[in-house]
Amino acid sequence: MSDGKCIFCRIVAGELPSEKVYEDADVIAFMDISPVVRGHTLVVPKAHHPDIAAAPVPALQKVIAVVKKVAQAQLQALRADGVNVTQANGEAAGQVVPHIHFHVIPRFRDDGHSWTSPQRKYGDAAEMKTFAQKIRQGLDA
Ligand code: 5GP
Ligand code: ZN
Repeated sequence: MSDGKCIFCRIVAGELPSEKVYEDADVIAFMDISPVVRGHTLVVPKAHHPDIAAAPVPALQKVIAVVKKVAQAQLQALRADGVNVTQANGEAAGQVVPHIHFHVIPRFRDDGHSWTSPQRKYGDAAEMKTFAQKIRQGLDA
């Protein structure tokens, strides 16, 4: 499936330019145009799947294999001290481009970047159990 209006489908098709670092039959990796940290790379299945719920497992397996390759390249060739792998699904989660993609972000001790969200607490153990029970039911569905 290919959505002609999707910006990443247009990059895959070569209709829009990108700075590619990797490509095979199913997956492409290219530099994020607005890097959180310089070297920030996007890994994208060539087929248009909007998000993790829609993407078939085999497509995700191929993508994660390339995520690992890119992360290793950032550690070795950029001499990154660490790597963040992030991925957003849905507007509420901050997804802007509705074609699934993984962010692979090299991290350096002095890069000045930080994830600022506070860690929250459950009201009590029962509240955590309620969330766990709903997720277990979802896994069984
Ligand atoms: P999201 O917020 O959907 O997880 O991430 C979308 C990412 O795509 C952003 O980090 C943004 O900088 C990047 N991006 C958006 N448009 C383009 C583009 O035309 N070319 C490239 N290389 N990256 C893009
Ligand atoms: Zn697309």
